[in-house]
Amino acid sequence: MATQETVDHKYVYDFAEGNKDLKDLLGGKGANLAEMTNLGLPVPPGFTITTEACQAYLATGREPDGLAGQIEAHLESLERGMGRRLGDPHDPLLVSVRSGAKFSMPGMMETVLNVGLNDRSVVGLAAQAGGNERFAWDSYRRLIQMFGKTVCEVPGEEFEHALDEAKRARGTTNDLDLDADDLRGLVDAYKKIFLKHTGRDFPQEPREQLDLAIRAVFESWNAERAVLYRRQERIPADLGTAVNVVAMVFGNLGPDSGTGVAFTRDPASGAQGIYGDYLANAQGEDVVAGIRNTVPLQELERLDKRSYDELLGIMARLEGHYRDLCDIEFTIERGKLWMLQTRVGKRTAAAAFVIAGQLVDEGLIDLDEALHRVNGAQLAQLMFPRFQLDHDFEPVAKGVGASPGAASGKVVFTSARAVELAAEGEAVILVRRETNPDDLNGMIAAQGILTSRGGKTSHAAVVARGMGKTCVSGADEIDVNVPAKRFSVAGQTVNEGDVVSIDGTTGKVYLGEVPVMPSEVVRYFEGTLDPDEADDALVKAVHRIMTHADAARRLAVRANADTGEDAARARRFGAQGIGLCRTEHMFLGDRRELVERLILARTDTERSDVLAALLPLQRDDFVEIFREMDGLPVTVRLIDPPLHEFLPPLEQLAVDVAVAQERGEDVAKEEALLAAVRRMHEENPMLGLRGVRLGLVIPGLFAMQVRAIAEAAVRVTREGGSACPEIMVPLVGAVQELETVRAEAEKIIAEVVGDSGVEVLIGTMIEVPRAALTAGQIAEAAQFFSFGTNDLTQMGWGFSRDDVEGAFFWRYLELGIFGISPFESIDRDGVGRLVRIAAEEGRAARPELKLGVCGEHGGDPESVHFFHSVGLDYVSCSPFRVPVARLEAGRAAVETVGSDSR
Ligand code: ADP
Ligand code: MG
Ligand code: MG
Repeated sequence: MATQETVDHKYVYDFAEGNKDLKDLLGGKGANLAEMTNLGLPVPPGFTITTEACQAYLATGREPDGLAGQIEAHLESLERGMGRRLGDPHDPLLVSVRSGAKFSMPGMMETVLNVGLNDRSVVGLAAQAGGNERFAWDSYRRLIQMFGKTVCEVPGEEFEHALDEAKRARGTTNDLDLDADDLRGLVDAYKKIFLKHTGRDFPQEPREQLDLAIRAVFESWNAERAVLYRRQERIPADLGTAVNVVAMVFGNLGPDSGTGVAFTRDPASGAQGIYGDYLANAQGEDVVAGIRNTVPLQELERLDKRSYDELLGIMARLEGHYRDLCDIEFTIERGKLWMLQTRVGKRTAAAAFVIAGQLVDEGLIDLDEALHRVNGAQLAQLMFPRFQLDHDFEPVAKGVGASPGAASGKVVFTSARAVELAAEGEAVILVRRETNPDDLNGMIAAQGILTSRGGKTSHAAVVARGMGKTCVSGADEIDVNVPAKRFSVAGQTVNEGDVVSIDGTTGKVYLGEVPVMPSEVVRYFEGTLDPDEADDALVKAVHRIMTHADAARRLAVRANADTGEDAARARRFGAQGIGLCRTEHMFLGDRRELVERLILARTDTERSDVLAALLPLQRDDFVEIFREMDGLPVTVRLIDPPLHEFLPPLEQLAVDVAVAQERGEDVAKEEALLAAVRRMHEENPMLGLRGVRLGLVIPGLFAMQVRAIAEAAVRVTREGGSACPEIMVPLVGAVQELETVRAEAEKIIAEVVGDSGVEVLIGTMIEVPRAALTAGQIAEAAQFFSFGTNDLTQMGWGFSRDDVEGAFFWRYLELGIFGISPFESIDRDGVGRLVRIAAEEGRAARPELKLGVCGEHGGDPESVHFFHSVGLDYVSCSPFRVPVARLEAGRAAVETVGSDSR
């Protein structure tokens, strides 16, 4: 319908119009500023420009129609409310322009404070502040600095040099010692720097400042470091950022003003209490940047009791409202408290479990919600080892335990060097005075991060916690000298390449490599630490949440285990069976000789002699495993790899034969082997003679294995135990393959089992795409399916796993062809679809068909949720991942569709 009216799309929301659930549209910061406004908390007024406006800008390179007018209207109403006009020479309104995406990206994007100051309004600002010229000029120089760096890409160091210069001229290192004249001079110096780099004067028109700053925030979404951070955190690239325009409040108005950050509980341990940093007479960004050393928030009680009490009240209210740990930013302007930001705070893995448990105790959430709030990746982190410190290790420094874990490595001082050494396979510790977003590559490459400045809320701390990387921050006994590539501590010098160890839980720093010990959580899983007796809040919380996960989940969890020892560990970790027992290791070691004879056998008799010799050895292997599993199902995979994997490599054999011939030795056997290796060489071994194909080609091989399994089960049963074997045929693509193997196997089983009561299931792997697509037929001959998702991914995509990951996956990830390697997390759309088809058609043909998965995806959190949704009966993964799979299976069962666990 044609119409004269064009209704503008709404791009700008007043804080009073939003709420915390509008993160997609308003970004996290904007949505939470709106929420706090509507709770009646003291938030400076302002408005939010939506992520949709940003998306439109990034798509077309210009502001969408209607945006300018809406900004104008909201600005006018802000000016009316404040009784001040933006940049008014006599009584100016100043604003901050702040980025804020749906997911918090600390320090990744840009903020400009004090927008609206110019050569004239700086005078008005001083008058407004009761003649405080120092404050006005300090605010102006900050604007030029932030605006120059953020909006116009002037190198930040130039401003920092000028600031250092001004301090040196004053004979001080503290910016508070600079007076109004110094700062006026600094503004002149800053303007020159601005002109030199941009070819224009610093813009004096307030509205132009505002528009350019907004545009810069839009563009900061695609800054390189933001792109890198999103990839690391798996944040979608197309969300865009919102922009918040907020009336300025001033923490730099004198000693009765200040600014700070706080958490409502300890984000490292989860302990209850108030954790934060406060800095008097400063503007917001000073706290995080570590310009001066902050004081603990508790000090504020002494400095300004009224504001302190009000702040504590607000923090308690926010916790109750969000039902979670919150982190906040606030500013005090001459004794008046202002809230500038809140969000549900990032936390360590340990704190996530502890806090979830506490919130249940406090009646704020139920156990389902507690389970939803932790995840398998966090649990996996808690299972890392920690330093063993029972002897002789004295820390040389102590900083803040900013992100837990134990890390040792060679010291490096730059991001580039960290990347370089890590690429050579070295473990490195990145040591900096403080990190900034440009250090991101080095932080990713390093085992751990050590800084001499900054607290729990510094850039290093926040980013490391997000990555699950060990970090000690603010170890101020350390004197870092980056150009000289060394730091000194306690009278010693540590050079690049020397080894240090850092403990991200205690904040302690050690010289040399400290040995590590297993985590408490692992000791709990292994049964050597009783959760009721442990005086460890973490172990108790893990126990409670795991118990709930086990009760809630529908998926069973089994383990991949090839030996009795693995089987025992798997059971201790809670495995309900073995989903994959590989048999190839049973052909290695001193049995290799038998395998060589098997391969070289010329006659049926020779071959059956060898198989007869292998039989009792295999049987003993299975007896051990069945005993450990004591009646739990054990899925044994018949031999899978190509047989030439058991022979020496071609080149080595050729050399050996040549050398032996030279010496005139008898080389008949070696020559035969060499001939066999040549004969068996395959261009694409993964697609060659392996799996079920071996069983069909080499007479008696599978039969021997089936007999060993059945005999072992009978033996264990006769001993009074119980065994529940499931024989699994690998690499089946057609039902006829399975039928042939099965017919022979059933004969042997019937003969061995007799009246012992042992029952043996026969099933197949689904790991060839054709098997998935003909699953209805295959199910006629199979009592169970186990999805081999490694091979299914390999063959589904046509990726040779050993080749592609190193060769070009980085490019695929960069291009966003996939967000994560399909070998790490199942590709739901393609490979997952094959799984779904096979599950549905298999079950349609045989309703009691048992379905499981035994690829590495069985222990991947995302994939576990997928397997739950497809209706599998179990997942199987390595013993160490079993607790992770149990937890995620529980989460999958309690989570509602589409919920967002980030
Ligand atoms: P980030 O996302 O990097 O934390 P913010 O937008 O929160 O960036 O702003 C950076 C700093 O500036 C914070 O400390 C914040 O509290 C402070 N700040 C932002 N807006 C204002 C304002 N209107 N008045 C005073 N301080 C502000
Ligand atoms: Mg902030
Ligand atoms: Mg396979």
